[in-house]
Amino acid sequence: MDLAPELSKQLDEAARVIVASQHVVALVGAGLSVESGIPPFRGPGGLWTKYGEPDMFGYQRFLEDPKRWWQERITRTPAYQELMEALEGARPNPGHYALKEMEELGFLHHIITQNVDNLHYEAGSRAVTEIHGNYRKLRCIRCNTRWPREEFPITEIPPRCPHCSGLVKSDTVMFGEPIPSDALEECIRQTAMCDCMLLVGTSAVVYPAAGFPVDVKRQGGKLIEVNPMETNLTDLCDVVIRAPAGKALPALVERLRHLSGKS
Ligand SMILES: [Zn+2]
Repeated sequence: MDLAPELSKQLDEAARVIVASQHVVALVGAGLSVESGIPPFRGPGGLWTKYGEPDMFGYQRFLEDPKRWWQERITRTPAYQELMEALEGARPNPGHYALKEMEELGFLHHIITQNVDNLHYEAGSRAVTEIHGNYRKLRCIRCNTRWPREEFPITEIPPRCPHCSGLVKSDTVMFGEPIPSDALEECIRQTAMCDCMLLVGTSAVVYPAAGFPVDVKRQGGKLIEVNPMETNLTDLCDVVIRAPAGKALPALVERLRHLSGKS
């Protein structure tokens, strides 16, 4: 692949940092999904720009009247319909496959993703924590048991958990809903071990994700940003790769293979 000299230099440096690290974690945001054709929420072509901001008290309203929430789900609003069609039609892009290869090569130990699109699993990645859930799953809000939608027959509304009779909702985290405790604990565990965090397509302005890179830096770890645009974290980063993930990550894997003699 022909790359600009500046980009090539950034990639070489990133590969050196990764090879010298013990526990590499990727923090992934919407930018990676946009490259798979999933519309962003804000900005031009954004779902919220087009249909209006979603209900900031979504989770509270779910708790107040779960039956009504489920009925609305079944009828589907235009925004929800468009998002579901985009999610169902999306396929992993070269960035997703590169992260899977990095894991296979032993250079990536965990992915913390803010995306709900299931594309990391579809690409073949194994160690993944989805902090905002997975649109293809349902979850019990009491015991955190998750089921693929198609394996949970809905015979009553709202559906109840067969284990603890807690309320069942989509696994996707709503506004006002706490991050599921098991996912949050895993992120904290991974961040504590992390000595190199790869920030892929995320501006990391939403907490708790925004705190993880800051923690890594505080404990003496390195940060590598892969993003076509500058973010709030750019100034904190040790290496900045100014390119889309679908272009940068495969080139990074190439270098890692070379450095490790696995090419
Ligand atoms: Zn339960």
